[in-house]
Amino acid sequence: MDLTFSEPELAFRDELRTWLADHHPGAEPEGDGDAHYAWRRDFQRRLADDGWAAVHWPREYGGRGATLTQSAIFFEELGRANAPLMANVLGLLLAGPTIMTWGTQEQKDRYLAPILTGEEIWCQGFSEPDAGSDLAGLKTKAVKNGDTWTVTGQKVWTSGAQYSKWCMLVARTDTDAPKHKGLSYFLMDMEQEEVQVRPLRQITGEPEFNELFIDGAKIPDENLLGGEGNGWKVALTTLMNERAGLGFFLQVRLRQMLDSLIEMAAADGSLDDPVIADKLGELHLKAEVLRLTAYRGLSTVEKYGQPGPEGSLTKWMWSETNQQLTQFAADLLGPRALTANDRWAYELLRARGNSIEGGTTEVLKNIVAERVLGLPKAR
Ligand SMILES: Cc1cc2nc3c(=O)[nH]c(=O)nc-3n(C[C@H](O)[C@H](O)[C@H](O)COP(=O)(O)OP(=O)(O)OC[C@H]3O[C@@H](n4cnc5c(N)ncnc54)[C@H](O)[C@@H]3O)c2cc1C
Repeated sequence: MDLTFSEPELAFRDELRTWLADHHPGAEPEGDGDAHYAWRRDFQRRLADDGWAAVHWPREYGGRGATLTQSAIFFEELGRANAPLMANVLGLLLAGPTIMTWGTQEQKDRYLAPILTGEEIWCQGFSEPDAGSDLAGLKTKAVKNGDTWTVTGQKVWTSGAQYSKWCMLVARTDTDAPKHKGLSYFLMDMEQEEVQVRPLRQITGEPEFNELFIDGAKIPDENLLGGEGNGWKVALTTLMNERAGLGFFLQVRLRQMLDSLIEMAAADGSLDDPVIADKLGELHLKAEVLRLTAYRGLSTVEKYGQPGPEGSLTKWMWSETNQQLTQFAADLLGPRALTANDRWAYELLRARGNSIEGGTTEVLKNIVAERVLGLPKAR
């Protein structure tokens, strides 16, 4: 693994740094989630205007055809500049690449451009009340009548559904087939009466995700992606793209939080306490191991063409370290960490979901045990 950047990678980084310095979205707005979302949407529009919204997309679809290392640099620099993630992050990282892989030319022509500009926001309708880790057990049903599918069921934890025009929806289209084979993948229009979005308020107070109640929603057959019965394969493409790239952003955000915690401890003299210094040193080590593991994962993809199980290891390490870091910040701050609107109070509460979203720690540990360590399968 070579960790030095090549000349083209350095040139890419410098061009991006200059752009971010000239087009920084400014400080995060005060106020509710909607104001925050509008800020991120506006930032995405500006990125798209100059061809930076989806560097990993091929040039023909408005991207820059960036290599994996350049994509990692993009997310690292975004984090380093303290810029927010683009509003349509699920469209850019999940829906777009899935449509590029499985879509017809008409679907690519119709859906990709508005993803890039943030004009049409996407959400991911995978999880259900009884199907999360065991996604293939989902029960939402789609029945075909002529050229139209009618969908009935419930989805849950659907992030950003309140802003979304489209949903990546996985539904059961054959109840007799084995559970992985009876699924199909749809591009569902959220703007219809039969789709009700109900916000779920999290421990942070924000309704970041929602319940979707789908009661006879209509989807034209032309919005089926990848063919009937291929939903599991198409969903895997979405899931494989879920962590690629984002890991670098999260890793840099963690580093920034740790640096500001160290600064805080230095300023109030608590860094002189050997127990505190020791704990911060341990967190520093974990942050470095995380960074190097993320790069090792990248090398695997560059070498073998597909992500290895290291992605699961990085996600697990990130969520654990982020939870430890935010808990330690709260211990250092004392009662202030429980004050509403304090940055660290938010980080502490938001970090609780890290070990659930994008794959729970238990499930990731199974993957690491079976596919990295080669231990016997649990099932
Ligand atoms: C902030 C956040 C945002 C999210 N956004 C979305 C979204 O936009 N779209 C979407 O579709 N979903 C989303 N999710 C849902 C997320 O993908 C699921 O919560 C996750 O897959 C776990 O599923 P579950 O909640 O049904 O828990 P379950 O799968 O029921 O798990 C319950 C417990 O059992 C454990 N467990 C399950 N299976 C095994 C096993 N085989 N071995 C050992 N232990 C096991 C789990 O680790 C967990 O502790 C989001 C979740 C969060 C927290």
